[in-house]
Amino acid sequence: MTLTDTIKITKTQQSKINEVDFNNLSFGTVFSDHMLISKYKNGAWETPEITPFQPLTLDPSSKIFHYGQSVFEGMKAYKDKDENIFLFRPEDNCKRLNISAKRMAIPEVPEAYFMEGLKALLKVDSDWIPTKDGSSLYVRPFIFASGNGFHASPADEYIFIISTAPSGPYFSGKVRVRIEEKYARAANGGVGFAKAGGNYAGQFYPTQLAIDAGYNQVIWTDDNTHEYIEEAGAMNVFIRINDTLLTSPTSDRILDGITRKSILKIAEDEGIKTDVRKITVSEVMEAAKNGNLKEIFGAGTAAVISPISGFGYKNEDFDLPKLDYPFALRLKKRITDIQTNKAEDKFGWRVKV
Ligand SMILES: *Cc1c(COP(=O)(O)O)cnc(C)c1O
Repeated sequence: MTLTDTIKITKTQQSKINEVDFNNLSFGTVFSDHMLISKYKNGAWETPEITPFQPLTLDPSSKIFHYGQSVFEGMKAYKDKDENIFLFRPEDNCKRLNISAKRMAIPEVPEAYFMEGLKALLKVDSDWIPTKDGSSLYVRPFIFASGNGFHASPADEYIFIISTAPSGPYFSGKVRVRIEEKYARAANGGVGFAKAGGNYAGQFYPTQLAIDAGYNQVIWTDDNTHEYIEEAGAMNVFIRINDTLLTSPTSDRILDGITRKSILKIAEDEGIKTDVRKITVSEVMEAAKNGNLKEIFGAGTAAVISPISGFGYKNEDFDLPKLDYPFALRLKKRITDIQTNKAEDKFGWRVKV
């Protein structure tokens, strides 16, 4: 018997699917009919169940509210023209969820619960997976501390949920970024490499300051010197100087993005020179001034690749050149064609559900 046979499925009495305009989807605002849920009690995860998507009831002393023990993942499911369902490197999301969990003293979820549970959920809600170009079903697995008590220690109970949201293209318009000189999203020895909820809460305020100053996002620099470029918002960052594509090495402070590592592989395959090394703000400034800076883009599941049109640093502003066929476009097409089964999957990344 596989786990799928043992997952209890309770279907909704009232599907909301007819209320959804699949031609005008925004990002992560409408939720599919069902969710997967498993509770951790008495030292073990219970077999997950699929239930209608519904509110939770929590004790006000649940530790998530006080000590922020929560981690999440972000991934996507796609449907090709023959209605086959695909995931992109899902085992990597499962592994990373558990890497994040471990760092936050949250018990790890068994891989079978994640993988088989997710596949079962996608089958139940398969009608929610959009087929329109650029659209997909955004998948949000997360774990949080539901156990009670004001004592500052790890909870003894947790909840693991996977919920999904049909989503249109993550369109951000023209993105101008500010290179951060004061705030940091992560520090050595900290939790920057984990998808821990608090990392994002800590980004909101500095990001709002950048927005108030006329930018859309922040380019994070290292916490110690602010001299090294690390990430772009909640994405990994790529910088093209002449024909070389640079990205920072992953570390305690830099999240090991699946899009990032896929882009590095595809770029290599395209014959694009890549260099994974520390990138200084001063070399980017110099390249911007002498015309060698060609592109900056963010990389992450939601947007895949998000081109940056210009940046500010100290009291200077720079525009990036408009290229006919930027690396960003070329790499985005290759990766999304693989994800949606329009191109050969030579690296074995697609997983059919
Ligand atoms: C999720 C995330 C990324 C991108 O990871 P993907 O696996 O490509 O989605 C990059 N940086 C941060 C801080 C993130 O939270």
